[in-house]
Amino acid sequence: MVVYNCLDFIQSLALPERCPCCGIATGSQQFFCHGCYRTLPFNNHACPKCALPLPPQAPPQTLCGRCIQHPPIFHRGFTALRYEAPINHLISSLKFNKQLHLAEPLANLMIDRLGDIKDPPDTLIPVPLHPLRLRERGFNQSLELARLLAKHQALNLNWRAVRRIRSTTAQTGLSEKARRKNLRSAFEVNDDLAGRHVALFDDVITTGATITELSRTLLRAGVKRIDIWALARTPIL
Ligand SMILES: [Zn+2]
Ligand SMILES: [Zn+2]
Repeated sequence: MVVYNCLDFIQSLALPERCPCCGIATGSQQFFCHGCYRTLPFNNHACPKCALPLPPQAPPQTLCGRCIQHPPIFHRGFTALRYEAPINHLISSLKFNKQLHLAEPLANLMIDRLGDIKDPPDTLIPVPLHPLRLRERGFNQSLELARLLAKHQALNLNWRAVRRIRSTTAQTGLSEKARRKNLRSAFEVNDDLAGRHVALFDDVITTGATITELSRTLLRAGVKRIDIWALARTPIL
């Protein structure tokens, strides 16, 4: 990260900030140009529990059908955006093409939306990667984003609190039952979190299986309340 920070700093002296979507120069503090910002898929109508995007006509605080039938074990969910273009492309570039300069503009979208969140958590925990995956990728995108959020919101960032102790196969294409089985006992708590109000942070929530398994582990460790934060949420389960 030190190398990245130095390179990023040098680049920032040489080049004006450019909109991550269209590439036009925006000035030093603005990441997205006004035109692109206005069209970003903000997740303004969402289930307050699992953050599933709901139709615009849904009244505020409406729970999705799934949360009514099977209430989640976490307290509430918040995601800034829907996982749609251009956000899905930007997150993929950050993760898979090591475009770490995108972490700040993306985290900033979350910060914009978190602004007046009531009853904030006392600890922010990024979803950990398995050490093998971390070695392969070189960084954990959720930690890089959470680092920026924690700094801005003055939250305690605890990225050592949980470890991913089992390397799980890709979840794509697995049934819900198979996903649960795949993730069972995937995490371990290394810290005393008893009585804490934590927010788990992931870059993207798809089915919620990972975040649910991690929540289960944290509740067993005595955590009092868990909120789920993510940059983006897939619209369909
Ligand atoms: Zn733009
Ligand atoms: Zn829901």
